[in-house]
Amino acid sequence: MTIVLCTWGSFIEGGTEEALTLARKLSDSLGARLHWLVAGDAAKEASALAATHGVAGLDVINDPRLGEFQPDTLVEALVQYCDQVKPTTILFNQTVAARLIAPRVAGRLGAAVVMNAFAVAARDGGLDVTATAFGGDTNVVYRLDAPLSVVSVVTTTVVAAPAVQPGNPVERTISVDLASVKERFRVVSSPKAEGPRLEDAQIIVSGGRGLGSAQNYDLVKQLADALGGMWGGSRAIVDDGWIDSSRQVGLTGKITRPGLYLAAGISGASQHMAGCSAAKTIVAINKDKDASIYRYARYGVVADCLEVLPELIKAARA
Ligand SMILES: Cc1cc2nc3c(=O)[nH]c(=O)nc-3n(C[C@H](O)[C@H](O)[C@H](O)COP(=O)(O)OP(=O)(O)OC[C@H]3O[C@@H](n4cnc5c(N)ncnc54)[C@H](O)[C@@H]3O)c2cc1C
Repeated sequence: MTIVLCTWGSFIEGGTEEALTLARKLSDSLGARLHWLVAGDAAKEASALAATHGVAGLDVINDPRLGEFQPDTLVEALVQYCDQVKPTTILFNQTVAARLIAPRVAGRLGAAVVMNAFAVAARDGGLDVTATAFGGDTNVVYRLDAPLSVVSVVTTTVVAAPAVQPGNPVERTISVDLASVKERFRVVSSPKAEGPRLEDAQIIVSGGRGLGSAQNYDLVKQLADALGGMWGGSRAIVDDGWIDSSRQVGLTGKITRPGLYLAAGISGASQHMAGCSAAKTIVAINKDKDASIYRYARYGVVADCLEVLPELIKAARA
């Protein structure tokens, strides 16, 4: 039995340690071998991390065609790799790119696939995979008994922990033939990913359409700065061009787990809450007392956020 965590790119993405932790716990309970496939340039960086996490085999694909994110090429590389290694479970750290790759790899290999998973347990020779469903409204446990399963894990709810016994991974280079792949995708723009990640922030101040305008969003930035936190927002204001998509919280944005999530002028749609409901404390400012956000908030201020935010900024700066 072999479990493989598949990653790619020129650096180790956030969430990889969490995915390795989950993969290791699963392979321990199944008595399976844990492999980590690194496609791209991050192999050096991966070596130490693989040992820390008790990985048995570090498999590296170093094809120059994988230098940039090219979905068709990457899918082909992963499929050829799986044909050689014959894993029983393939895990992905559910980044935005992994959402595009995981289902296609599963389709090519005829595997069962579950996206948006946050827990995987071995039971009676199969897997019980717990995932969010219906836009984050509910959780579902899927039973996978297929010979090959693909599970894409949202790692923000997983706590990274190194193995008790560090491993001594066997490192090997895997050859794939990508010459005949005709790439159909062209990345025309990608979100700016500079500085700290929203997913790692302990304090997030988020704004929604209730702020009324892009100019008013500046209040969110000011409060986030005064509190030493980061600023984010709902998809509505990303779509309206007020903030960059790298700041979007939610199902199709960043899945965050801060200590404090302060939501100003956000309705609390399930797709938004999928990205912040794991926060320890949610504080909402919404002038509608029946807004969904109040189902999740520990503290709520039923008021105009344009009046409350300046007061909070003053208090935070005092
Ligand atoms: C497949 C899919 C994926 C999606 N993914 C995401 C996602 O990742 N993230 C995301 O955020 N959304 C996502 N959405 C969109 C989501 O369903 C909502 O439309 C969006 O979250 C609404 O944003 P909002 O709360 O800012 O705006 P609105 O729904 O317009 O809510 C504005 C809120 O502000 C309040 N308000 C108005 N004026 C004030 C004021 N002056 N003071 C205080 N409160 C005020 C209103 O009462 C209202 O509750 C997705 C939708 C779909 C279908």
